[in-house]
Amino acid sequence: MASSSSPFDCLIFDLDDTLYSSKIGIGEATRRNIEDFLVEKCGFAKSNASTLRSELLRTYGGTLAGLRALGYDVDADDYHSFVHGRLPYDLIKPDARLRGLLRSINQRKIIFTNSDGIHAMKVLDRLGIKDFFEQIICFETMNPSLTKSSTPDEFPIVLKPSLDAMNIAMDVAEVDPRRTLFFDDSVRNVAAGKAVGLQTALVGKTMRTKEADYAMEDVHNLVQVIPEIWYKGEDEQRLNRTRSDIESILTATPVGAVVSELLKTKDTAEKASKVALVYDVLNTLKPRGSSKVDLSL
Ligand SMILES: [Mg+2]
Repeated sequence: MASSSSPFDCLIFDLDDTLYSSKIGIGEATRRNIEDFLVEKCGFAKSNASTLRSELLRTYGGTLAGLRALGYDVDADDYHSFVHGRLPYDLIKPDARLRGLLRSINQRKIIFTNSDGIHAMKVLDRLGIKDFFEQIICFETMNPSLTKSSTPDEFPIVLKPSLDAMNIAMDVAEVDPRRTLFFDDSVRNVAAGKAVGLQTALVGKTMRTKEADYAMEDVHNLVQVIPEIWYKGEDEQRLNRTRSDIESILTATPVGAVVSELLKTKDTAEKASKVALVYDVLNTLKPRGSSKVDLSL
């Protein structure tokens, strides 16, 4: 393994308050909707709703999980459509900077959220980044048997930060945790990630916690905080010749000769090297300001 290659094969991102800012009002609206649910659907006093929501989150990982564990027969779809269905999604704007960042990352990219799939798709759609993720691991992924349960506590709800949730995610994603970087805005989720061997990044905070390998105030700071995502192996670096290298090659080798040699080459590695050379040469020769030559051979 080349010493300078990226330590990551895969990036796993939490969604809410991680890929968009916690300050835009979605988190606040979600908390309000959950408290309304506790009052309107479960009959709790309005004055207790906020404390109860925090308690259920701390003890069970979420309100729905807590309610069902306590014996409330709350249907997951009803809960999600109440809590997420009325969110002001228009607060989430298309994020061209994030789109550019994700586009430049060649590794696998996966979403891992406690939210339901409908919410996840809406958020990714609003941000304009849906097409970059090969998988969305969400509430339904972690709780496939819920609809078959005859009593609310028959299948306890599985959510981050439980280790069961982390293990389900890694099984579904088929990743090597040691080469996977996990982003989340929750300190507890990051700690759970570390406990199962993932490399971890805390988002929305400037200070690292014990279990966070990295911390960033905003996901847009990715390049500054974790440049190693973009590191390339020695072979690739070797192929990324500098302008002066190319100029010296050009004086000695006509491009036509390189291309005809390329066409004869059988060996894959050698062919890749020559393709890269032609690519570099063409980009060196192209008029200033014209778009980059793209060789899809
Ligand atoms: Mg989050």
